[in-house]
Amino acid sequence: MTAGRPTAYRSLMTRPIALVTGASAGIGTVFAQRLANDGYDLVLVARDRERLEKLAAELPTETEVLAADLTDAADLARVEERCRDEARPLDLLVNNAGFATAGAFAELDLDGEDREIRLNVLALVRLTHAALRGMVGRGRGGVINVSSLASYQPGPYNATYAATKAFVTSFSHAIHEEVRGKGVTVTVVCPGPTRTEFAERAELQGMTGPDFLWQDPGPVVETALRDHRRRAAVSIPGIHNRVAAAFSSTLPAGITRKLAAFVMSRAK
Ligand code: NAP
Repeated sequence: MTAGRPTAYRSLMTRPIALVTGASAGIGTVFAQRLANDGYDLVLVARDRERLEKLAAELPTETEVLAADLTDAADLARVEERCRDEARPLDLLVNNAGFATAGAFAELDLDGEDREIRLNVLALVRLTHAALRGMVGRGRGGVINVSSLASYQPGPYNATYAATKAFVTSFSHAIHEEVRGKGVTVTVVCPGPTRTEFAERAELQGMTGPDFLWQDPGPVVETALRDHRRRAAVSIPGIHNRVAAAFSSTLPAGITRKLAAFVMSRAK
C-alpha cells in the first residue's frame, strides 16, 4: 500500500489507516494533514495530547489520538500493540518523531543522549517490526522512516544525532530490499534544514545559513509521499540536499567530518 491511492487496495467502505509519530508539530503535523486529505484515517502519536487533539479536530477523516512518550518502554509498548492490531490494520506507518542534541559529546548530559537513541533508533525499530510483519502477511502496506541529511556523514558536535540517523538510513535501505516485491514499500526520507521546532528544541540557535537552504515542511512531505508512491527506497527533498548527499556519499569521511565540524561548531 502506498500513500495517495488509498481506495485501490481496500474496500470502498473503509478508509486506509496511517499512524504518524511526532504528529504534534513540524513535519509530522504536515504528514497527518496531507494523509487525511488523501483519505486516510489517522492515528496520531506524540507526548503532547492537547496539541494532538487540536489537530485531530481539524482533520477531515477519523482520527485516533495516542499520547505516548516513545522513550518510555510502557508507552512504546502501547503504540507497538496498536501497530500489531489486526482488527484495525495499518496501511502506512510514518516513523517521524525525533530530536537532536548538540554540543561536544563529552560535555552533553548522558541521559539526553540515551533518550535520543531510544526515540530515534529503538522506537523506530520496534514500531517498524510491529507493523511490518502484518503488512508482509497481507501483501500490502508502507513504512516511511524520517531520517536526515545528517545521516550521510559523521556529525561532530551532533555526534549521537548523526549516528542515529545513519542507523535509520542504513536500516531502512536494508528493510526496503527485504520486502521489495511483497507489496510493501519502505522509504527513508532525508530532509535538510526544515522550518519546524527542531532547531529550537535542539538549542541550535546558530543553525541558520542562507534562506535557500531551508525548506518548509510542506514540500518535504509532498516529495516524501510522491517518492513513497513510486516505491522509492530513499527520498531527499530539494535539489540542493540531493547534491549535498551525493557529495557526502563520495567524499572521504576525513573531509566530510571536518566540514561538518566547521558548520556545527558555529550552529550551537
Ligand atoms: P519538531 O517540530 O521538533 O517535531 C518533533 C516531533 O517529535 C514533535 O511532534 C514531538 O512531539 C515529537 N516527539 C519528540 N520527542 C518525542 C517522544 N519522546 N515521544 C513521542 N514523540 C516525540 O521537529 P521536525 O523537524 O518536525 O522533526 C521531525 C523529524 O524530522 C525528526 O525525526 C527529525 O530528526 C527529522 N529532521 C528534521 C530536520 C529539520 O531541520 N527540521 C532535518 C532533518 C531531519 P511532542 O513534543 O508532543 O512529543
